Amino acid sequence: MPRLDKETLDMFLSTLKEYAERNLPVSTLLKIDHEDVFPMQVLKDLYDPSIGLHLIFVPEDCGGVGAGAYDIYRISTAMAEIDLGIATGVLATCLGADPILVGATPDQKKYWMTRLADEGLLMAYGATEPQAGSDLGSLTTVAERVVKDGQTVAYRITGKKQWISNGAVADLYTVLANAPGGPSWFIVEKGLPGFEAGKPEDKHGIRASNTAALFLESVEVPADRLVGGVEGKGLAQAQAVFGYTRLMVAAFGLGAGWAALQRAIKYSQQRIQAGAPLSQKQGYTHKLIVPNACRLEAARAYIEWTAERLDSGEDDLATEGAVAKYLATEAGNKAAEDSIQALGGYGYTREYMVEKYKRDVRITTIYEGTSEIMEWTISRDRWQSHLKTRGAYYIDWAARIEKNEWGKIPGLTLRALAALLERARLDRLTRNQHILFRLGEIIAYAETSAIFAERAHLTPSDALGLSAGLLTRMARVHAREAFLKVAADGLRWATAAGQTDPNLQTLLNTDAAYKAQAGLVEDMDFIAKQLNEAFPA
Ligand SMILES: Cc1cc2nc3c(=O)[nH]c(=O)nc-3n(C[C@H](O)[C@H](O)[C@H](O)COP(=O)(O)OP(=O)(O)OC[C@H]3O[C@@H](n4cnc5c(N)ncnc54)[C@H](O)[C@@H]3O)c2cc1C
Repeated sequence: MPRLDKETLDMFLSTLKEYAERNLPVSTLLKIDHEDVFPMQVLKDLYDPSIGLHLIFVPEDCGGVGAGAYDIYRISTAMAEIDLGIATGVLATCLGADPILVGATPDQKKYWMTRLADEGLLMAYGATEPQAGSDLGSLTTVAERVVKDGQTVAYRITGKKQWISNGAVADLYTVLANAPGGPSWFIVEKGLPGFEAGKPEDKHGIRASNTAALFLESVEVPADRLVGGVEGKGLAQAQAVFGYTRLMVAAFGLGAGWAALQRAIKYSQQRIQAGAPLSQKQGYTHKLIVPNACRLEAARAYIEWTAERLDSGEDDLATEGAVAKYLATEAGNKAAEDSIQALGGYGYTREYMVEKYKRDVRITTIYEGTSEIMEWTISRDRWQSHLKTRGAYYIDWAARIEKNEWGKIPGLTLRALAALLERARLDRLTRNQHILFRLGEIIAYAETSAIFAERAHLTPSDALGLSAGLLTRMARVHAREAFLKVAADGLRWATAAGQTDPNLQTLLNTDAAYKAQAGLVEDMDFIAKQLNEAFPA
């Protein structure tokens, strides 16, 4: 995917910021949240040609701007900093268009994507069903062929979809249904006979987004609404967009997490307790601020790395999308949670926004694949890499980075991870689902530690304007956490599941993982101080 030039991306970001400053002050966002109304006008404004946010999903030859994954990550982060509910309304259009972008015939793509660009259609993506969530393969919505003169001229779709973003407000839907040839995507326009949406769900957060069930009773669509014209490609098409859409949700976790944390950092500089601002108290910063900032920036580095690879034409990055989503959304969630704590009683009230960020960001660990499904995906995929390379996958990666000073701790971490995976193989530990999932978490930390360390030194992110020196220290904090996770948690779970090697602790280099913690407090002191300077009250 090509990338927008810097000027165009900056223009989108600044237009979005100006729009929010003008039209979405905190009082309005809180009102929308409290009254639980879908702000249709805001979505219309965002899709108006003067902003044209939907154009980022549309290829240039269909009238869009054809943004790349990096651009979409930056814009998604910016949207999440404003309001994750509104951002979800935009995400739903992206998701809705994805089966078309990935699987449609050239004619279908041209027709529908041009309409999306010209008419600013609000879209929805109908995959989930009451009984088919994480396990989409068990869907029961059916699409029956309508045959005339031996030709399939139409399909009749019957079934129920659950938790569909923009479900009751979209103009156009992509709906996954079982055709005779297997699961397939269909393009369904609003208002067709037999097609209805349920009432909006009363949700914990993202109350600015519309979520509704869809009811389809013999909804007839012409045969040319079958995406790609061939039945049975639906699950592969849904899978094909994950590297990309999961990155978008990762960016949501990152944006909302940082938005909450920045409020906490600013608040802590003004709040005087025991004679000094909270921002100067280690017991506060080193628990509630610094670890969250480090994890969020580790996730950002991994997101940017994955986005750049997608933009350079790699397409098989579903595992990387899963790592990015997992770490960024868990980090965003924890950052928002700790921001409530950081504001004390004020944080627990509705007025201070961190409470709303916390409720909103919670969804990011659920939709587009839950955190547990991400752990599974990561573990299953990297397990295969470990097996296929006869254990060399992480050892080779370690060898590539450990000669650099910044690569020393991540290198040891990757070597420990390789040893852990090998022990899991020899003792068949992954027959326990829990071990498989815990490995997913451990792998996510190990990989992000390597990528964050490398990028902080070689290509530090300019997204937040943090200095390279600060990012380097943050990468070191994250690397220490990751090493300990692999060595200590790895040892714990392998032992818990009955591993048989008396020398595993030595192989995992657990001693070195503890020794690597030397200097941690000093780094955290530096980071806390620099964050206060980067985000003054
Ligand atoms: C606000 C909102 C908006 C949404 N928008 C859309 C949308 O626009 N389009 C759409 O198609 N869907 C949408 N969804 C659906 C969303 O993607 C699903 O809720 C999600 O994939 C989880 O499915 P589920 O709710 O059925 O939970 P389940 O799959 O039933 O999962 C419940 C719990 O069990 C765990 N679990 C599941 N399977 C396993 C397993 N095999 N082993 C161990 N643990 C497991 C999960 O991690 C989770 O913790 C939305 C959901 C919400 C809440």
